[in-house]
Amino acid sequence: MSHSGHHAERNSLAASVEKYVEVKSQKCYQCGKCSAGCPVADEMDYPPSMVMRMLQTETPANDEKLLKSHSIWLCVTCEMCLSRCPMEIDIPSAMDFLRQKSMSEHKENPKAKNIIAFHKAFLNSIKNTGRLYELGLILNYKMKSLNMTQDMALGPKMFSRGKLHIFPEKIKDTNHISKIFKNTEK
Ligand code: SF4
Ligand code: SF4
Repeated sequence: MSHSGHHAERNSLAASVEKYVEVKSQKCYQCGKCSAGCPVADEMDYPPSMVMRMLQTETPANDEKLLKSHSIWLCVTCEMCLSRCPMEIDIPSAMDFLRQKSMSEHKENPKAKNIIAFHKAFLNSIKNTGRLYELGLILNYKMKSLNMTQDMALGPKMFSRGKLHIFPEKIKDTNHISKIFKNTEK
């Protein structure tokens, strides 16, 4: 067995993604279907399949690039990639984790300033109401804070299908949520 030599702790971003959101980037075999279906891939510095590939390398340089990337902020959690992936790799959850990690390490890409403002407003909505804002309020805020070209790229279909959510609905653990707030309120 090639992995049986030692039990050294993996310190990589891929290991954290695996530990905290249970997404195994190593399962990705680079078929590219996720990137082909991603509505914002063209705007991204690293499309979703590349994000998976970079995680797989488990090198500090690539981990750093990912945390500083624009891609993680452009991802709108539409789950198109997940629905197309033959390995059912939950890229949106991985992206969400990378956003949290990027924020907590103050590595946010400067180009993502408006998106991050939106993201933080979203966190506040969860904090204040214990649930996500109504869609109307989100769109209202989005109009004011995000540039319209990004919205155009997404198209109206996504909104009508109720696919617009920056966070996976599976966040139920309030400890996890309060940890996020500690990181974002600094
Ligand atoms: S969830 Fe994110 S990475 Fe996946 S297709 Fe949608 S925007 Fe692209
Ligand atoms: S669709 Fe799945 S297996 Fe294919 S490149 Fe994307 S993440 Fe990897």
